[in-house]
Amino acid sequence: MDRWGLTLIAAGTFGIMSPAWAHPAEYSPILARAYIKSGAINPENSREFRLEESQQDVEIGKFCKQLGLQFRKFGWESDPCGAVKWQASIQTVEKRPLLYASFGKGKDVTLLLSAVHPNEVTPVPMGFRLARHLLENPDLLKADQRVVIAPLINPDGFFTEKPIRTNARGVDPNRNFFTLDWYEKSLSWWQSGRNKNLAYFPGHFPNSEIETIFQVRLIDEHQPDKILSIHAPLGFLDYDGPGDQKPSTLTPTETQARMLAAAISKKANNYRVVDYSFYPGSLGNFAGNERHIPTVTLELKTTDAKKVEEYWGQFLPGMLEAIEYPFKKSVEAKLNTFKFYSHYEPLAIKPKDRS
Ligand SMILES: [Zn+2]
Repeated sequence: MDRWGLTLIAAGTFGIMSPAWAHPAEYSPILARAYIKSGAINPENSREFRLEESQQDVEIGKFCKQLGLQFRKFGWESDPCGAVKWQASIQTVEKRPLLYASFGKGKDVTLLLSAVHPNEVTPVPMGFRLARHLLENPDLLKADQRVVIAPLINPDGFFTEKPIRTNARGVDPNRNFFTLDWYEKSLSWWQSGRNKNLAYFPGHFPNSEIETIFQVRLIDEHQPDKILSIHAPLGFLDYDGPGDQKPSTLTPTETQARMLAAAISKKANNYRVVDYSFYPGSLGNFAGNERHIPTVTLELKTTDAKKVEEYWGQFLPGMLEAIEYPFKKSVEAKLNTFKFYSHYEPLAIKPKDRS
């Protein structure tokens, strides 16, 4: 029997036991899965994701040691964290700190997000390397610039025997943002056609995953002027802004995103730039399309761990260009960010979380 069959039987049994679920006969496989497996973040369990201040340094130190061992398996550096002052105030389902570091004190903020899909492998060291590079070369940042780096958005997916795309709960964190089209399209897209693959599961609900909340918090707290996220292996730079699915009407934000992608490309041997449409629940849709923050995705060419050195050399100038690239903050970027997690008191941004 396939997994859906089993799940349906289990859900049906639950339904009979619980009169609160009025229509067990109508359970779709997705809902059945939801009833059984959903442990979406909620006010009852949110405290488990909070990393208390007194534990932060110890937990970050332990995590960095484990990271070094894991990096060595791929033939990479054994001290990825280096001397960077990493911060983490929330942790994953498997109790790994969600790291970020901030450089500079300026108002022009670049947010770099890496390795939301650890199975892509090559993006994993990039954020760590950039952080160490900025620490060692403080002159690279001008007075008006600031950079926030979250190098490993999905650490639980990296610490499996073979890294996986999803988080520990089987959700693709880049399909779980609460975009306006999530309820309309997300599960139905996933269920239909080639996307019906557990590795792309968007979650039973949007914002159900701590990795999603981590990214939304970073955006809320730091109000980035632009976002660069690193993936593999599609081999292009993709830009997202509002109106992305109607390319004939580029908005100012999307024009900025396209110019940013072109500037990075120029520093990377004219790396290919595309306008790839975004998905329900993705970062490009949430930040670029809906919040008007120019968002560029760098897709490295392969998932071959041995190529990291080459990619680092190829894209360091482009990453520095992204940081340098001047933007006027768009008014819209400040609006309509729904700080849903502030209802989950332990996950709300606290003054001491700020750098
Ligand atoms: Zn990816």
